[in-house]
Amino acid sequence: MIRNGQGVNIPDDAIVTPSARDFLGELEADGGGNGSAKPAVAKPDAAFVTGEKLSPPPKKLNSKSPKAELESFFSSPYARSLKEQICEMGHRLWKRAYVDGNGGNMAIRVGDDIAICTPTLVSKGSLKPEDMCLVDFEGNQLLGSKKRTSEILMHLQMMKRQPQAVATCHCHPPYATAFAVANIAPPTCMLPEYEVFCSVGVAPYRTPGSADMGKLVAELTDQYNTILMANHGVVTWSHNNIEEAYWRMEIIEAYCRTIVVAGQLGKPINTFTGPQMKELLNIKQSLGFVDPRFGMKECELCDSSDWRPGVTCQSSKADEPTIGLDPDAEAAVKAITDQILAQMK
Ligand SMILES: [Zn+2]
Repeated sequence: MIRNGQGVNIPDDAIVTPSARDFLGELEADGGGNGSAKPAVAKPDAAFVTGEKLSPPPKKLNSKSPKAELESFFSSPYARSLKEQICEMGHRLWKRAYVDGNGGNMAIRVGDDIAICTPTLVSKGSLKPEDMCLVDFEGNQLLGSKKRTSEILMHLQMMKRQPQAVATCHCHPPYATAFAVANIAPPTCMLPEYEVFCSVGVAPYRTPGSADMGKLVAELTDQYNTILMANHGVVTWSHNNIEEAYWRMEIIEAYCRTIVVAGQLGKPINTFTGPQMKELLNIKQSLGFVDPRFGMKECELCDSSDWRPGVTCQSSKADEPTIGLDPDAEAAVKAITDQILAQMK
């Protein structure tokens, strides 16, 4: 239509592909092409859906900012787009049966010590942008008509402990939660996506919503972005956005399902070699994700796991210089190494 000089007049029932939408967006940024009617797609309300980039407010807000400023921010198109993102992720969590009843909650850091979060007692399947709450980092509600989630303290403690965490997502996906009930992190070195996107730790059980629960989870965020909460569920964080925190849920849940099935096939499970795993960890590091295995020896990455007891790091002997060491010195080195390894467990 544009090439033919007809302008942009998209019929109401047209399906606009993502690339067409980008093209229309560029056209609009260029001043509306040939001066024709504006495309019907880039409404602020549909900002997230259309992929329009909305920028955060120029001034960083905090819990002490004047109420009027907080209110104006909370009703801005930017805040609206974040609320819509939370709703969209909530709907995905519900459709995938990762949440039950009113379970699951999410938060996005929007200032030094403030966050937008989901309300309590609302199914993630029917979340609406106007349901969202604004809280300070102590969990006090600043804005929003619905009451904030009772599990907000954990999200806030994660954000306080891990300055990189901009978004957090918590839910109860059944397969991953099964591992949390068994109190074990899934075995590693089997699927690339899982290794790159998730770093999984297990936090001990505490009453949901308690400060103690939040503290134990938060302490793991230095090294892990996906935390199994024993006898409860899973919580993830992202340094990018809420969708990435949500992706981690899909990835760990698919992984846990896959390995449960793989374990039933009656065939030995193949795992990555050390060098293969090292390559994945290099990718992971370049993406800015955390992982406690960065810097470990290749042979330690997949061959010495609690999941496969008795398997030891076979190639470590070849890596270590042995020439010129007397037996006593070697014994001392071994004793110290063993002590360090025991402390790391
Ligand atoms: Zn929960």
